[in-house]
Amino acid sequence: MNIVLLGPPGAGKGTQAARLQAQRGMIQMSTGDMLREAVAQGSPVGLEAKAVMAAGELVSDAIVSALIGERLDAAGSNGAIFDGFPRTREQAEALDLLLAERGRSLDYVIELEVEEDALVERIAGRFSCARCGASYHDRFNLPRQQDLCDLCGSSEFVRRPDDNEQTVRRRMAEYRAKTEPILPYYEERGLVRRVDGMASVEQVAAQIDAILDS
Ligand code: AMP
Repeated sequence: MNIVLLGPPGAGKGTQAARLQAQRGMIQMSTGDMLREAVAQGSPVGLEAKAVMAAGELVSDAIVSALIGERLDAAGSNGAIFDGFPRTREQAEALDLLLAERGRSLDYVIELEVEEDALVERIAGRFSCARCGASYHDRFNLPRQQDLCDLCGSSEFVRRPDDNEQTVRRRMAEYRAKTEPILPYYEERGLVRRVDGMASVEQVAAQIDAILDS
């Protein structure tokens, strides 16, 4: 099964994609994670993407589509969860082509519906474990033991440089202008399902599971 998770920054795509990967053996394909890796490595893609990401704007369709193509081959025939991709109509068309070339297709496009104002608070407080990537939040999800990761015990945490209010607002505007308009492309094919992204992580997970198991 191949699914796309759609929704603005902070809607919970990454959280749900990581859970689906852990529970169902599907592969999480996050272009945001791939780009952050490229930036950290200082690769040519990273050098090109760094300033664009810091501004909250979109990296070029060609770069992100190529990243997905490379990973699709590495992922073998396991189902994929596309998280943060596609973000434009061009990327949506590129994804269809990449899947078709491998004899695969999309099963569902799941839109996480959320209220934008709540998202700024969600995003501005988030941080993650520098070693294992586990996600936390200043208000909603602190580590059980202060300053120690619940999962791996590391005491080093990181915050994304683009998780500040000004950049978040820019990322939301990009979502509204370029990503939301691709919904009709998928609606025409009857692929879109909507879930209430304001519910708890467990409730959102249950809604998604109900769709995948239907
Ligand atoms: P994310 O982790 O999905 O919030 O992505 C962080 C940033 O990476 C975005 O604000 C964009 O600058 C860039 N990015 C991630 N995925 C894409 C994509 N599919 N298309 C263009 N830019 C992307």
